[in-house]
Amino acid sequence: MSPMPASSNSPEPRRVRVLLPLPLAGAYDYAVPLGIAAEPGDFVTVPLGQRDVIGVVWDPREAADEAPIDADRLKDVVCRLDAPPLPAALRHFVDWVAGYNLSPPGAVLRMAMRSPEALEPPRPRIAYRLGGVLPDRMTAARRRVVAVLEDGPPRMPADIAETAGVGVSVVRGLIEAGALLPVELPAWPDYPMPRCDENRPELSAAQQAAADALVANVADESFSVALLEGVTGSGKTEVYFEAVAAALRDGHQVLVLLPEIALTAQWLDRFQARFGVPPVEWHSDIKPPQRRRAWRAVADGSAKVVVGARSALYLPFAELGLIVIDEEHDASFKQEDGVHYHARDMAVVRASLEDRPIVLASATPSLETVSNAQAGRYARLHLPARYGGASLPDIVTVDMRATPPPSQRWLSPPLREAIGEALERGEQTMLYLNRRGYAPLTLCGACGYRLQCPNCSTWLVEHRLAGRLMCHHCGFARSAPTACPSCEAEDSFRACGPGVERLAEEVAELFPDARAAVMTSDTVHGPADATALVRAMAAHELDLLIGTQIVAKGHHFPLLTLVGVVDADLGLEGGDLRAAERTYQLLSQVAGRAGRAEHPGRVMLQSYQPDNPVMQALVSGDRDAFVEAELEARRAAGMPPFGRLVALIVAGPHLDRVRDTARALGRAAPSGPDIEVWGPAPAPLAMIRGRHRQRFLLKTAKSVSVQNVVGDWLARVKPISSVRVIVDVDPYSFL
Ligand code: ADP
Ligand code: ZN
Repeated sequence: MSPMPASSNSPEPRRVRVLLPLPLAGAYDYAVPLGIAAEPGDFVTVPLGQRDVIGVVWDPREAADEAPIDADRLKDVVCRLDAPPLPAALRHFVDWVAGYNLSPPGAVLRMAMRSPEALEPPRPRIAYRLGGVLPDRMTAARRRVVAVLEDGPPRMPADIAETAGVGVSVVRGLIEAGALLPVELPAWPDYPMPRCDENRPELSAAQQAAADALVANVADESFSVALLEGVTGSGKTEVYFEAVAAALRDGHQVLVLLPEIALTAQWLDRFQARFGVPPVEWHSDIKPPQRRRAWRAVADGSAKVVVGARSALYLPFAELGLIVIDEEHDASFKQEDGVHYHARDMAVVRASLEDRPIVLASATPSLETVSNAQAGRYARLHLPARYGGASLPDIVTVDMRATPPPSQRWLSPPLREAIGEALERGEQTMLYLNRRGYAPLTLCGACGYRLQCPNCSTWLVEHRLAGRLMCHHCGFARSAPTACPSCEAEDSFRACGPGVERLAEEVAELFPDARAAVMTSDTVHGPADATALVRAMAAHELDLLIGTQIVAKGHHFPLLTLVGVVDADLGLEGGDLRAAERTYQLLSQVAGRAGRAEHPGRVMLQSYQPDNPVMQALVSGDRDAFVEAELEARRAAGMPPFGRLVALIVAGPHLDRVRDTARALGRAAPSGPDIEVWGPAPAPLAMIRGRHRQRFLLKTAKSVSVQNVVGDWLARVKPISSVRVIVDVDPYSFL
């Protein structure tokens, strides 16, 4: 691994640029020893300092890239890995995402290398069967293992343990005792082919027209963007499934991105019902062996339909034919740690680099997408009504000033009455409140002292079920103090305002016979829990579901006829750029859960400002007027989608250094006719996880290249040590 000797008569070694999955400024040069093939896209091991790192041979240098290093300092590539190369389109995509979001390309590459096991040679798969002598001591757990193997084929240990409901150590014990015998399994079989033509639904005329347009895009095999817009229940999923089928018939692969939380069992069930096989899943809960299998099958083209969260965008598709972004307006497509990027926007870029169509589906498209459609850049396909004559729910506001709930209660008399009626009819209710825990605020009744997180500038939230006070930003938790730290009053802490747990208490008091459950990220730990709750609701084992955002998405419950939004004004607080838009989207999504089948649905929005344009638009169902008014306001203010924003967050553990760096950035701030810079100012969340935070917001005209402006700006200031400057292009959070 020593550098090549730089003798004057030996020829200059072949050199390649290797991008490492690390936040470095660019790719590094390495020499390729004779006998090693290293072409762009190949995975290679190279030395970096004292260690060996896996990277990707990158494309040859362009003039603007970093300067080449001297030949005598060049180190050798150690070896090339036996893994499929990273396709050229994906390499360009990595560079593009890095350039647009002002991130190191290696940090983006890291997202494309989230499956290190995929790069290793396949390990033999050893399964076990019965056949040896059973030990004398047969516990109940051991007997379950034997029972599983008695009526099934040989299986791998983890699989046996899961099916038998025992720990893997039980299986290992039986293997060591010689009771189970090894059998080598063939490499993973190919994923089963989706069957496109077996369960095609009869489409309505409007659905057919939209499907035809999407199918034509797929047949074109070139870049295009279609917005598929239609109220919840209008059949958007069925329609884009036709485009999926068309791509599959042409032998292409399809990528479907869903907002993380909506990766629900219900979507997977519907895919299976339509195509006869499950899709290939890609998200953080997929285990390493399945990741390896999926990654490799995506790379060789045998994984036909991949459904995933944001990270699936960086998979090495061999022959991508179509991308679908469902719920394209969803805020969870914006990643706000590590590389800050918007997965919907980057998906459009990926489609364009692959020269293939993309479909953006939503009942409430983002203003960015609407404005692209209005400008003719995106084709707009519209499904006007719910499928099968199901009517849209009747939405009303409950004026909390006129009909307030009793003190320390949160359900107004009209909503309580409606819940009682729904229960009597044997129908289901959903109560939506986007506040986890028991109460958002806990304070001392004697002196008003509030309990703050030691690491963040936020108040602690009481979680009564867990018996703790918690910080929702850093996870800090403590038990409630018995005496107030400020005035020393005993048992003086009082809950202020409602969280879902407190709401559940009120429901239990009002409707003691109702079967109710709470659904939040505290009660749902992973997809299995979510599936269990959703199935229980769908099977009418529950009368009432109380939940946060998690209940808003994608579910289809035929008996759900009443949705109560406990605090419809909540999202309007704080009032950032998208507060109204987001509130409208979220509330109409929650409302869309009601009356999806033959029973008509009703939605009650509890509000202290029923005249607010958001509430008015929801009640009248006039989304177009609301969207036009919002767009007009954005245009007048030069805000996105008509102007550009970039946020800089200066963060670090020492306030003085953060301030000094922020001031230096302030002095070096860009200026110009179409450029405004606000800041530095302490962020609304001035501290998170022990890091002080100051913010800048850069606003420019649409014509300005913010990447150049911000790139130059950052190059003029070197952050003081321990201080980081985080760049957020097209920010969605202003906290
Ligand atoms: P969206 O995605 O717009 O909310 P879905 O595609 O989920 O709408 O459709 C809502 C419901 O109507 C689903 O249960 C779906 O199976 C059903 N549906 C929609 N279109 C059809 C159709 N053409 N034939 C049969 N069922 C349909
Ligand atoms: Zn905290």
